[in-house]
Amino acid sequence: MPALLKIDSHTHILPKKLPNWSSKFGYGDFIYLQHHKKGYAKMMRGNQFFREIKDNCWDPDVRIAEYEQFQTDVQVVCTIPVMFSYWAKAMDCLDISRFLNDHLGKLVERYPKQYIGLGTVPMQDTELAVQELERCKKIGLRGIQIGSNINDENLNEERFFPVFEAAEKLNMAVLVHPWNMMGEKHMQRYWLPWLVGMPAETTRAVCSMIFGAVLERLPKLRVNFAHAGGSFLFTIGRIQHGFDCRPDLVAIDNNIPPKNYMGKFWVDSVTHDPLMLEYVIKLAGSNRVTLGSDYPFPLGDLEIGRFIEGMNLPTADKENIYYRAALEWLGISLNDVSRD
Ligand SMILES: [Zn+2]
Repeated sequence: MPALLKIDSHTHILPKKLPNWSSKFGYGDFIYLQHHKKGYAKMMRGNQFFREIKDNCWDPDVRIAEYEQFQTDVQVVCTIPVMFSYWAKAMDCLDISRFLNDHLGKLVERYPKQYIGLGTVPMQDTELAVQELERCKKIGLRGIQIGSNINDENLNEERFFPVFEAAEKLNMAVLVHPWNMMGEKHMQRYWLPWLVGMPAETTRAVCSMIFGAVLERLPKLRVNFAHAGGSFLFTIGRIQHGFDCRPDLVAIDNNIPPKNYMGKFWVDSVTHDPLMLEYVIKLAGSNRVTLGSDYPFPLGDLEIGRFIEGMNLPTADKENIYYRAALEWLGISLNDVSRD
């Protein structure tokens, strides 16, 4: 029996060269790349070192070769959240977004079977965000990635609603990715922003979209929450109980119980733990769990879901997780990606 098709729904990519936006715009610590040795680059934020990346962050052929080792055929690619630049002037963020999205547009045109692109949009300006979302669609991207908060504002804020409305109308998928972690300044030690802040950030986003009735008002909007939805599914009992015991605090904008939204949004499989993934499948349904890795970063699952192989899941569940859930989330068909 041939191996099942695999779509990795959560990976990050950058162009090899980034303009020097700080000098172009005359302000701000925008990210730029220092290619200091062959195959490696330093991501610099202003003059500060952010992280070192390898060529698998920008070279599509290196990536395809690495993915072959894990029998994974398709990569859904989006930028790295530090590139969102929501803090910048909106027109400058649009400039950056267009640059990154055009790079993705060219990539998916060149490798239509191996890469699927999710764009980035200037969420700090609703009109520009919708305009760039429309352009993303035109250049062949299948959706957008947005942050778990927009400059500390939650995703239920009315001014973000037109972006979600446009995504639903345009049949564009949404990936919500944690970034700009709450409490980051107060927990620098032990990598806590990544280990504690990120799962909380994603939970904040899921709760905001449920309690703010975004998912309720846009039933056809297809949203995937990164890292298995953060800590949302693992604390759903508490969240539901909070809704039940203090509706005066929780149910003020939407009186539908949070548990009713199980199966209405997607999460990826990035749990690093088979027991946790079993639980996620039980709650969300395997048709709402997309194979994900967070490649190429070390906190990701760089064996692209190899632990799922050993889980003894029914074939139907594996098919859902490896590709069917992703196809449905992205609004595409098997023919769009499958090997000839
Ligand atoms: Zn990620």
